[in-house]
Amino acid sequence: MTAQPLTDEAHDGSDDAARVLRGLDPEQAEAASAVRGPVCILAGAGTGKTRAITHRIAYSVRSGAVPAEQLLAVTFTARAAGEMRSRLARLGVGRVQARTFHAAALRQLTYFAPQILGGPIPDLIDNPVRLVGQVAARARLRTDRTQVRDLASEIDWAKAVLASPSEYAAAAEAAGRIPPISADAVANVYRGYEDAKDRGRVIDFADLLLITATAIESMPQVAAQIRGQYRHFVVDEYQDVSPLQQRLLEAWVGDRDDLCVVGDANQTIYSFAGATPEHLLSFPDRYREAVVVRLERDYRSTPQVVALANKLVAGTGHARLQLIGQRPDGPAPTFAEYDDEPAEAAAVAKACRALIDGGTPPAEIAVLFRINAQSEVYEQALSSLSIPYVLRGGERFFDRPEIREARLLLRGAARAGGEPEPLLDTVRATLSGLNWHAGSPPPGGAARERWESLAALVALAEDVLGLDEAATLETLVNELDQRAALQHAPTVQGVTLASLHAAKGLEWDVVYLVGLVDGTLPIQHAKTEEQIAEERRLLYVGITRARERLHLSWALARAVGQRRGRKPSRFLDTLRTARRDVRTARPATSDRKAVAADAELFGRLRAWRKKQSEAQEVPAYVVFSDATLVAIADARPGDLGALGAVPGVGPTKLARYANPVLEAIGGGEPEAVDI
Ligand code: ATP
Ligand code: MG
Repeated sequence: MTAQPLTDEAHDGSDDAARVLRGLDPEQAEAASAVRGPVCILAGAGTGKTRAITHRIAYSVRSGAVPAEQLLAVTFTARAAGEMRSRLARLGVGRVQARTFHAAALRQLTYFAPQILGGPIPDLIDNPVRLVGQVAARARLRTDRTQVRDLASEIDWAKAVLASPSEYAAAAEAAGRIPPISADAVANVYRGYEDAKDRGRVIDFADLLLITATAIESMPQVAAQIRGQYRHFVVDEYQDVSPLQQRLLEAWVGDRDDLCVVGDANQTIYSFAGATPEHLLSFPDRYREAVVVRLERDYRSTPQVVALANKLVAGTGHARLQLIGQRPDGPAPTFAEYDDEPAEAAAVAKACRALIDGGTPPAEIAVLFRINAQSEVYEQALSSLSIPYVLRGGERFFDRPEIREARLLLRGAARAGGEPEPLLDTVRATLSGLNWHAGSPPPGGAARERWESLAALVALAEDVLGLDEAATLETLVNELDQRAALQHAPTVQGVTLASLHAAKGLEWDVVYLVGLVDGTLPIQHAKTEEQIAEERRLLYVGITRARERLHLSWALARAVGQRRGRKPSRFLDTLRTARRDVRTARPATSDRKAVAADAELFGRLRAWRKKQSEAQEVPAYVVFSDATLVAIADARPGDLGALGAVPGVGPTKLARYANPVLEAIGGGEPEAVDI
């Protein structure tokens, strides 16, 4: 079947549906209105790929072309799936399923387990490292903890590329991998691990996909049921699909072609785990009649951020797509060097504090790093300034003791039944059993984090109600169980601390990319050209998360007083030239002061603007837009003439607001003036 745009006469509800397309540019709308047949969107970061597919889903459902329950949208991380679900709910199609491959497979397998496995679904092991360690020990391999972890990743890779234990050695060699121990020994542990899982009647995440795919491939009844249920498929972040996921996708789709994929080869960051952009890039060849759309306009980031991203990928493999920034100008990205990590973290935390005091919601700020271990120093620095934060995209949310306790209590309450009361009241009453009360969080790092986690559960209950007014405590408990199985944390109001891997697909007003030293980015064990290229793409993903303000930094030593022997990431060499292209050329050593000072002034300007807009009873942007405040904080004009020269400050605004603005620049905290 060829892809056909839906015509207005063809279906009921088309006016309502057409409205959905209005928020799209012509190329996005082309992809979104092709509701049948294969569609492929190949485009760079922030160009609205996710927006185009969520609107496409809304359009196809609201126009009546596709029943909501026949659609399955899959994406890569649990957070991205959550983000997609909320976008779909806002578009009025919250019933459409948006899941990760794993979540979708888990659901299907749970349902079909009796048929496929002759009983309930086996327990899932979410962290195979322990079992791999036991198998290695039994094989009398002398391995330390790091090696065991590497062995587990190696097995995970083999399963993602569909290599069996006996195929492992050849596959690893062909892929240029360097096994942690000899390839034969890895294959032995891999075999032992598979046997141990069978004996213990447990499965891992890869098995979830493999068993589901195999069942569809080999059991016509299962295939008929699943293919009868799902007829339209949408895959976001398709550049990071692994051969195993691709196999499951093919099993779902069968010989049909209602498949829409979107991705950006420049953002392939999971090749180490078996992902490959080849499926994305070859899609137009595999589906000759596909509607193929390329997007170039970047709606997310300021031209300054976009310029930096373009510069980073210029001359590299997949640099076919250069982005064109659509937003108004913003501040130039900054580069800052520190003596040690605590100093770097303290400066970032201080700048966050100033932004938050100036009115930036903490959830609009992210601190992104290469490896999870880097988060600790930032957790400390943020806590010491009482700034709430969400760790690692919330990966460990469900491991927190208060969340385990809360789930037990909620489950108990759901079982007890009793008089039906409004869900939120019941949840709050139950959480009071853990000494949690709505209102403001208690002081102190750990107590505060505990409060924020429980508050996040209440927020989740609100979300659940938003999607389904009739939701009960049982609905909530089930939702929590599902999320816990996939470690999908609800959003906590706080600064996000996340690895670059966990940040993909997401966006924030302000992004700090920290710890950018050689050995961390690129990571020390990246040796081959391809591995280094993947590290560069990680930085690309990081840069393109920022909407307005982007700060890159590094520290010359890890701890206070250590030799300052580290070097800034080699990827920054070309970027720091780019930075001079976008105006402020400051020597790196003075940048740290500049970053903190700019953010601090911006914070005070915003605080004043808030008072001023309240006094005038107008929205804040009527006083000054964010971009103008940023430009003022950047230029620091000392007098009327210089202030009048800042873009966005016209004669009327100059006459009205020069006094308080100049006062703020002079270090003061001005009040609103009478207009
Ligand atoms: P990534 O590659 O990082 O996943 P993406 O291509 O999926 O990015 P989106 O997240 O869909 O990009 O969009 C980036 C931002 O730009 C979002 O805030 C989105 O709402 C906005 N945006 C996208 N398209 C448009 C448009 N046509 N008009 C206005 N805003 C848009
Ligand atoms: Mg996206």
